[in-house]
Amino acid sequence: MKLHEYQAKQLLASYGVPVPEGKVATTPEEAQIIAEEIGGRVVIKAQAHTGARGKGGGVKVAETPAEAFKIAGEIIGMQLVTKQTGPAGLPVSFVLVEEAISIERELYLSVAIDGSMAMPVIIASQEGGMDIEEVAEQRPEAILKQYIDPACGFQGYQARALAFGLGLSGELNRPATALIEAVTKSFLETDGSIAEINPVVVTTDGRILAADAKFSIDDSALFRQKNLADLRDRSQEADKELEAQDAGIGNYIKLDGNIGCLVNGAGLAMATLDAIKMAGGDAANFLDIGTANSPEAVVAALKIIGTDPDVKAVLVNIFGGLARTDIIAQGIIDAKNQGLIPQPTIVRLAGSNVNEGNALLDNSGLDLVRAADFAEAAKSAVSAIS
Ligand code: GDP
Ligand code: MN
Repeated sequence: MKLHEYQAKQLLASYGVPVPEGKVATTPEEAQIIAEEIGGRVVIKAQAHTGARGKGGGVKVAETPAEAFKIAGEIIGMQLVTKQTGPAGLPVSFVLVEEAISIERELYLSVAIDGSMAMPVIIASQEGGMDIEEVAEQRPEAILKQYIDPACGFQGYQARALAFGLGLSGELNRPATALIEAVTKSFLETDGSIAEINPVVVTTDGRILAADAKFSIDDSALFRQKNLADLRDRSQEADKELEAQDAGIGNYIKLDGNIGCLVNGAGLAMATLDAIKMAGGDAANFLDIGTANSPEAVVAALKIIGTDPDVKAVLVNIFGGLARTDIIAQGIIDAKNQGLIPQPTIVRLAGSNVNEGNALLDNSGLDLVRAADFAEAAKSAVSAIS
């Protein structure tokens, strides 16, 4: 679950991370009042779940409260397109109005989970502010890392080593170390999946603060991060993914292709996407329905797929273990009869109660394409479209 920048900054501030003074505005009038309160130049920042807002026109400096009014008017209500959002962009319904800081240096700091090492990692670089991915690719030596071994936990020396590595010695060393420690603590205690401060700014008057903040909480940990779960902003999430969550389907991800997939088990779902690719097609979604032993759950899942305007064919690939294929078959029949999946539908069933499942489909009188294995199913789906 992604947080907005202003939420991330409040969270970080509660751990003692210094952040610029600022407030959220939902109207140009509010932005003007906040700018007056702050006094002097302010930055107006679109609040949307994306990075690279600066380059997309979502971060602008206002010299006066009147200009803050004008800029906020331009940004609020915009559909912010960045290289991370795709062409549709994300809606912006409010802005963060912050004191403009006078920047001497921009640094990079993040804490994330390194899956290959099975550990959290703190990443830092002197080359903050811009595309860190490019720095990592072109000049990997400019990226500093400290792994947090879960057996011994985060150690104070790691923050000091990073601060020195960032060239923050002398007066700045102590506040920099404290900032790194606080960001790390906030990440670990809230079950973060990423906490990224890009840039950490050294100001011309010798302060160090978090000028930007991206923060995500691991969805699987929200049950024990109840206070944070309330920070979810559904307007920033794909409609279909929300519908899937509401239907109790844990694993639905919208993709760019046109073959809608209903699959059980994440491994089988991945293999199905591969089979579709190998047959020359592209999946419209990843959907692991899990152990769905009720036709209603199947109908709910097929409705999400069938009502997606991108979907031109539906592929059902089920290996029944605990899930019974006859129940899945009944769900397919119900969804077809309710007109929820008008697209050509290809079904491959295997495993528990497969004879009963296939008999139900055979006797349904419905126009379904059947497949014995999933390479065949994928081929049939691709040819149903072309
Ligand atoms: P992002 O583009 O979504 O990562 O948004 P950021 O909050 O990182 O803003 C982008 C860039 O705008 C930063 O890297 C800074 O160079 C600049 N910027 C942001 N806030 C300020 C500010 O208060 N003063 C100045 N001078 N520049 C700022
Ligand atoms: Mn940034």
